[in-house]
Amino acid sequence: MGYRIAIAGGGLGGLTAALALSQGGHEVIVLEQAAAHRTAGAGIQLSPNASRILLRLGLGPALEGKVTATERSRFRHFRTGRTITEARLGAEAEGRYGAPYWQIHRADLHEALQTALANHPNVELRLGRPVSASAIKENEGRVTLSGVDGPVDLLLGADGIHSEVRRWCFGEAPARFTGQVAWRFLVPSEGLAPGLQARDSQVWWGPGKHFVHYPVDGGARINGVAVVEARAWTEESWALPGQAEDLRAAFQGWHPELQQLLERVTPEGLFQWGLFDRAPLPRWYRGPVVLLGDACHPTLPFLAQGAAMAIEDSAALALALKQAPTLADALPSYESWRRPRTARIQQLSRRYGWVYHLGAPLATFRNLAAPLARGTTMDWLYRYDVGDHIP
Ligand SMILES: Cc1cc2nc3c(=O)[nH]c(=O)nc-3n(C[C@H](O)[C@H](O)[C@H](O)COP(=O)(O)OP(=O)(O)OC[C@H]3O[C@@H](n4cnc5c(N)ncnc54)[C@H](O)[C@@H]3O)c2cc1C
Repeated sequence: MGYRIAIAGGGLGGLTAALALSQGGHEVIVLEQAAAHRTAGAGIQLSPNASRILLRLGLGPALEGKVTATERSRFRHFRTGRTITEARLGAEAEGRYGAPYWQIHRADLHEALQTALANHPNVELRLGRPVSASAIKENEGRVTLSGVDGPVDLLLGADGIHSEVRRWCFGEAPARFTGQVAWRFLVPSEGLAPGLQARDSQVWWGPGKHFVHYPVDGGARINGVAVVEARAWTEESWALPGQAEDLRAAFQGWHPELQQLLERVTPEGLFQWGLFDRAPLPRWYRGPVVLLGDACHPTLPFLAQGAAMAIEDSAALALALKQAPTLADALPSYESWRRPRTARIQQLSRRYGWVYHLGAPLATFRNLAAPLARGTTMDWLYRYDVGDHIP
């Protein structure tokens, strides 16, 4: 039998880790603070580096019919609608990277993971169980915490950007407001312009703002994310209700196709997020307590890689525990495999935010330079397969 492992946080990172670790023969208890799984957050893009792991974990059949294969990633001019640059995905990406590029509703991915976990005898998912830093105790190399009977060999902190487990490991360090706020919404796609219904991931670049949309629910709805610059954000919460009029006002003067999408937005299901981040952490573990996902490398959404990195972490941790003779050997290996890549992606995501929001005259240079990349810019990112990078 493997280790006894508690996971704080049942988000996409915690649930994927629970599946990877239980398939590796470990006993897993997931403690999620929410009493029920929330679906705020709507759509998510899963690039091939993440989809290949989900397929390997056996989720293919459960995700069939829920995912939409993205045909193109398309970048457009905010006022004229002109395509500045695009990368072909679809079958081409699958051939090139060995796995598909998908769009999916987060609730569908959660459900697929939960169903797979429910069928696994080594996993227990406990809802309504917040983990607090003050209730974590280490004793002779094992960990006790409230919500779990008896000690565990390993505590995995997958509890997001405001992680209590990270606080226990490394003390207080508030996340930094990036000066950007995101709106998210879902609207029905029926009757929208064909350009809006295309199975593309579309990003509109404008000064100080950008707008992303793509279909989910097999094309029945469009998921929209609008990011604008803002001076302050006082709420620590992920999601606050947003005002549709404020969103429309922020994108006044943008292309008519986008206005059509914005006209459909209703207050129900419109949420606003302050975007926060942290500098890359120098250490990911302390004793038998280790971190994963946004808890150790919160990543701005501009490369659509935050959840993908949490999914990659899950596969890497399961592999480290399999290969290393002891936990004390496994945790440094896991950290050293993952830290450089996630730090690079954190930094690159921040830089992309800056590039997306350029105004004249730099925007003109960006628009001329972007098509020169020839769709291969993301090869290093999407081709990545955890097992190939382990010494
Ligand atoms: C607007 C936007 C768009 C994005 N789009 C994409 C995308 O297209 N593709 C992509 O890969 N990524 C995307 N991301 C990033 C992605 O959402 C996150 O990186 C990802 O959700 C991180 O997963 P996680 O499991 O580490 O953390 P979280 O999703 O934050 O999950 C943490 C879980 O822990 C629980 N929790 C918190 N505290 C405690 C506690 N004390 N005790 C117990 N449980 C606790 C929470 O309730 C939650 O369920 C986007 C992010 C944003 C904001």
